[in-house]
This record gives sequence, C-alpha cells and structure tokens, in this order.
Amino acid sequence: MPALTQTEAVARAALLDVETCDVFLDLTATPARSRTELRFRCRQPGAETFADLTADFLGATLNGAALDRPEDGRLMLRGLAPENALIVEAEVPERALPRFADGSDEYLLVTSFPAGAPDVFACFDQPDIGVTTTLTLVAPPDWECLGNGPVAERPSPGGPAPGSSAPGSSVPGIWRFEPVRSLVPFEFTLCAGPFTPNASGGTWSRRVLAGVADTDGFNALARDALRRYEATLGVPCPSPKYDIVFHPDLQALAMSVPGLMVVNEVLLERFADPDDDFAAMVARHEVLHQWFGCTVGMRWWDDLWIDEAVATYASYPSDTDWIAFSYRQKERAYHADAIPGTQPVSSPVETMAQALDRPSAITYVKGAASVRQLAALIGEQTVYQGLNDYLTRYAPVGTARLDDLVGCWTRASRRDLAGWADEWLRTTGTSTLRPSLTPGTDGTIGSLTVLQDNPRTHRIGIGLYDRNGNRLRRRQVVSAEISGARTPVPELAGEPLPDAIILNDGDQTFARVRFDDRTRQTLCSVAMNTGDPLTEAVCWNAAWHLVTSAELPAAALVSLVTRRLRDDPPLPLAGLEVLTDRAVEAANTWAPASARTVLRESLAAALLEFSERAVVTPPVRRVLAGGFAASAQTDVQLDVLRSWLDADRADTDRADAALCWKFLSALAARDRVPDAELKSFATADPAGGETNAAACRAMRPDPVAKDGAWSAALAAAKAGRWRMAAAHARGIWVPGQEEIMEPFRERYFGETLPLLASWDRGRPGQAREAWRLAGLLFPVTLADPMTIAAAEHPTLHSPLGEPFRMLLLERETVLRAVVAARAKAEDVQEILR
Ligand SMILES: [Zn+2]
Repeated sequence: MPALTQTEAVARAALLDVETCDVFLDLTATPARSRTELRFRCRQPGAETFADLTADFLGATLNGAALDRPEDGRLMLRGLAPENALIVEAEVPERALPRFADGSDEYLLVTSFPAGAPDVFACFDQPDIGVTTTLTLVAPPDWECLGNGPVAERPSPGGPAPGSSAPGSSVPGIWRFEPVRSLVPFEFTLCAGPFTPNASGGTWSRRVLAGVADTDGFNALARDALRRYEATLGVPCPSPKYDIVFHPDLQALAMSVPGLMVVNEVLLERFADPDDDFAAMVARHEVLHQWFGCTVGMRWWDDLWIDEAVATYASYPSDTDWIAFSYRQKERAYHADAIPGTQPVSSPVETMAQALDRPSAITYVKGAASVRQLAALIGEQTVYQGLNDYLTRYAPVGTARLDDLVGCWTRASRRDLAGWADEWLRTTGTSTLRPSLTPGTDGTIGSLTVLQDNPRTHRIGIGLYDRNGNRLRRRQVVSAEISGARTPVPELAGEPLPDAIILNDGDQTFARVRFDDRTRQTLCSVAMNTGDPLTEAVCWNAAWHLVTSAELPAAALVSLVTRRLRDDPPLPLAGLEVLTDRAVEAANTWAPASARTVLRESLAAALLEFSERAVVTPPVRRVLAGGFAASAQTDVQLDVLRSWLDADRADTDRADAALCWKFLSALAARDRVPDAELKSFATADPAGGETNAAACRAMRPDPVAKDGAWSAALAAAKAGRWRMAAAHARGIWVPGQEEIMEPFRERYFGETLPLLASWDRGRPGQAREAWRLAGLLFPVTLADPMTIAAAEHPTLHSPLGEPFRMLLLERETVLRAVVAARAKAEDVQEILR
C-alpha cells in the first residue's frame, strides 16, 4: 500500500471540505461490517481525489454512482461535485478488531493510531482532516461500549432499542453515540466488551479485575489534572465526557483521544502503590492530550513532537516533579542523541512512517527538556501564555505547525525565538558543558569560563558548593546565559574557591555536563550528595556518562551508589530506583566478567543491609528489595529471596505482587522455581500473571527453555499478541548465561532479525512492534567482537529498512562502549594487582 505523502495530503486538504462522517458498525456480524457515509464539499468541481479504505470492500457509491473497488487502499473519487455523498460498505478484517479472550469474556479494542482507521471505515486519513463523526454500532447484548462521544442511546436491558431506524435496527444491542466534532480518523477509538465500572464511575476494567484492581486513585488524579489544566491553559476541556478504560492488549502504556483514555493493564501494578509518583505523571500526560492533540493537533507528521513534548513537560509541573524526569528520562535522550543516525526533534518528513521512526527519547524527552530550557530563558509563565495563545488561536482550525507555536512564544516573550527553535528543535546532538577555572592569587576564583562543544544558547544555573561533612552545601548559584564555544562568567571572579562547581544546577537545560578535577574528586568523596536533589540528579547522570564512556570504572559507580544509600538526606524515590538499576547494570554489563560476581554480591549485601534498617519506608523497602533480587548472587542471598517470597505469598496486595515477580525472576534465572509455583502465582495475578510467568520461564539457565521462549515469542508476535511476545523475549537474555546463549547469536542475525524486518511495512503499528521485538531479542549479553562483527555486516544491513538499520547501529555502538569500558577496567585491575 503506498504511503500517503505530505504533497498528496496538502493537495487533498486544499480540495475538500469534509462536513460529516457517519459510521455504522455491526460487531455481531461475522465478519464485522461497516457502513460509512461521508459528506463533503469539493472546492474544484470536476476534480478527483481518493478516500482511504483497507477494510474488505463490498461496494460504494459516490453521489449515487457505483465506484470501482479500491486499489492499494485507495478508493478513487472522480468527477467530484460541489456537494458530495460517499457511501461505502465493507467487512472489517480481524486485524482491526483485536479481541482479548478472558475465559468466556471477550474484550475488543479498536485503536486507529497511527493508520488503522481505513481498516474499519472509509475516511480521509490525514491529521488535518478532522470531521464531525457519529458512530452507531451493534454489539453483543451484555457488552459495554465506550467510544469518543458520549452515549446518546444505549440498548434497553433485555430488549430491542426503541425507535431505531439505522441499518440493523431490529437487532438488540444498538448503541448510538453523540457526534464528535473535528475527529481525525486516527483518533477513532472504541473499547467494547463486558467492562465493569469502578466504584466511583469514570474508569472501566475487565470483569475479572473488579474488586482486585484499584483504579479509583488514578481516576481522581486524572480528574484533578483535568480541572487544573482548565485553569492553567485557560481553555475548557473540549470533550463533554472522558472515560478511562484499562485494557490488557493496548500496545502503548496509555493513550488519549477525544473523550477517552485507554490505559495498559500493566500499569495497574504501579498505580496500586500510593507512594509511586508514576501514576500522577501518566495522568497529567494523557489528560493534557485533550488539549494538545485533541483541541489543536499537528498539521502533518513532522510536528508529532509538539503534543508529546508539551504533554511530557506539563506532566512534571514542579522542580520536585522534575527530579523524576531528570533521573528516569534524561539519560535515554542523551544516549539517543549521541548515537549515529540521531534526528532532530522536528524535521521534514514525507510520510507518517518516517515520523514514527523518530525515537521517542527525542520527541518526548529532548522535546520536553527543550521546553523547560525555554522556560529558563523566557520564564515559565510566559511559556504557558504562549501555550494559551496557541490553543485559542488555532482551536478553530484544529491544527498548527512548529512555526505557529514558536510564533506564540515569540509574541508572549517579545523575544525572537526563531534561532532558538533552529538550535533546539531542528538540530541534532547534545551540547557538552565544562567549566574552565583559573584560580586567583589568594584562594579565589580568578576567572571562570564555560566551554561548550556543539554550541547553542542556554540559560543555566552555575552552582558553587562547599563541603559540609559528608555532603555539600550550595553557597551560591548564578543564572547565566551561555552561548558559543566559550562564555566567561565574570560575576563569579573573586569568589572564594569552592570545593565544587556544578554546571546546569537545577537541571534547566538539556546538555551533558562535565566536572573539573577538583569537583569530580569532591563529588566522589561525598557520593554525589550535593544537598539539592535536582542538582544531584544532574551529577548522577554525568557520573553514569563517565561509566559508559570508560572514564569511571563500573565498580566505582557501584561503590558510590551503596555509599550514598547510607547518607542523609535520603535519595528521592525515582533516584533510588534509577541508581539501584544503574548499579545492577554496572555490575552485570559494564564491569569485566571477572569482576561481576564479586560486585553483584557486594551490591546485594549493601541493599539487604540497608533494607533492614528500621527507618526505611515501605516504598523504599520495595525498591531495595527489587534491587536485592536483581543482584542476589550467593546461595545464602538466594535463600533470603526464597524466604521473602514464601512470606509474601499470602499477601494479595498488588504492589507486592509486582515485587514477587521480581523475586521469581531472580530465582528462575538460577533455576530455583518449579513450573507449578509459576502457575500458581500466574493464576493469582489476573493482570500480569500470564506474561510474568512467561518471562520467568524464559529466564531459566537451560537451552531448552531459551529455545521454547524464542519460538513462543515469534508465535505470539505472529498472532498479534505483542505483549505476550515481549514477555517471552524479555526473559531470554540474562547476564551470566552467556555460555548457553552463544548459539542464539546466529539464530538472531541469520533468521529472526530478517524475519521481523520483513513484516509488512505498510502497517506501521505492526512494523513498530516487530522492531521492538527485534530490540528485545538482540544478543545484548554477548558483548564481544563477534556480535559487533555480526551486527555491522553489510549483507545483513542492505535488505533492512531504516529503523532496523538504526537499531543495529545503536546496539553496536553500545556493545563497543561496553567492550571498551570492560577493557579499561581490566587494565586498572592489572595495574593494581
Ligand atoms: Zn502522549
């Protein structure tokens, strides 16, 4: 199927003025059937264009005249009249109506993003043709149906719908929805099945989760976010209703379309933890899409970043919230921006697929960090004034572009931001900032200059810190505008020489930060404890970069993290989580294989010791216990894990269920979990049991288990069960099992990768999932020259599409860095010996 190009989309939008789209959907027919009635004006009568239709064509008329069947998904419309009526009958293929079977219950999820709408109904599938859309559907009698619009009429219990005149009106179970204004085809979404509402209304989940999953807390967070945005954005929510549906088979973590948020059930585990800030962040992000996306969306796919960057920025509204962003998100964007083939936040794309290939670490994370840097430059209030102007100005059109948004910020700030947009949004690469200090004669700063490679303009904090016992105390911070390769900071000349100078104090910009020698020594001596949690996150990110660029041994990072755990103030939860993970990764991956066992054992011992302290709160204890499970090495440590698991068994608390799966994974990887036990845990956990058990089985140190998981992953993928496929795959590559994994390198490069890469590029949803699975199956633990050679072999690359080539390039870059870091650490060990 030829992809719609921007040139074609511009021409079609100029030609048509689409007024209404009425969709009738019969879900009780086999196969399901749809009928679309599109009414539109044509600005050049006599001209021709096409509608998009990939559903199975049954027949169509344009102004009463029969049309030929579509070719390659395009239904040709010739000789258009000033006013047109297009009527299309079609059968909806199974791929468009994925059903999750749960015993005798079935849960249907129709998502159209990014290109699924033409599988269901005839439409003009492009971001700038929003149409007043009305849905009528026929569904099985006991189903609950949740769509974009409010329900206008639902089937009366046990009888036919009164006064029905639509096709199929004599069949019970007719649902009519109110018209939804300016609905873009890819926003069309439908959840249908025996969904059950939660106690307070507004959220829906599978019947089996009623009473098990607590969704009230998340519902309250989302409603609160809705009210707040109405105040801060100054524009009312465009949808008259907003349902939240938890679904087991959503490909993304969550999505928001007009009137509806769909949330992946995997999040229920985290949402159950009242101390976890993740739920609030997801709620704020998704709810903001009611404005950025639904009220004003992108005109073309190159501006996909606007909605995601603004939603991400807004979902961390305070400096305290931003700490979590700094720890959990920024590093992956620095990484994505440093690898070959990185892309700017925004650049022209001719097709949708090109836009979706842009890494989310760039569009979401670098995009959001760029907005925060803009807030440092022009003020947070001014950023919101610009957003308000954008929504007010472009809501009547429904779409806008990068230049429109930058224009709003320019007006709000009275500062020409065209150059800012070029540097931050249209240019690849991350700036690296480093201080250059000349001491004065009498223990003062003689001069301080900020050196910058990959230069752009930033407003940053520069913090001067002095040692205060086992941590630092910030003496002073100056805000400075940095641009070009060298920026002197004259206001700090003459200040007493501090123990540490930290650039990007308060994490206002998106830049790699380096330390001078004195600062690095000071920070290592206090285990990064700067006394300011946001600046500490900046320092930890810089330290992690030192590990991955072979400048700080993995063992040193593990030691820094374990020392920091013992100090006050305690790390924020996001920091604790990320640093525990990084310490585990340092020991497993970045340390030489010969040091791995000792490092894991000492890390596990430190985490265990700390988790047993009385002062530790339950969420902190959970993170420490998870870290202990991931690093437990000795038999004694594994026995501790086993005793925890047995003690937790009776506990039905969902947050602890998540922890149990971490214990089970660690034990499974050492072949200490029998099948019967996995089964019983899976049965007790309707939300994540099946997938977690699959991952555990894949972790066993047994070639037969690996082989079974590999085949099961591909079989699940083929059946479109991507979550299950990912579960099998994520258990396969376990550090420490390299010996039994050797044969799988050839299987990956010789068979699996070419297979996944060949899956239909015409269906970007599927191609994207295949690409993700290819990432999970990559032989990540075999960090050696053979894997590097296999990954860069030209005959492998030539038949691959761009995203798969980029995936290999990225993995190869990481493997090279791992090999270099291990070699450097071996050298150090050699010298010390
Ligand atoms: Zn989003």
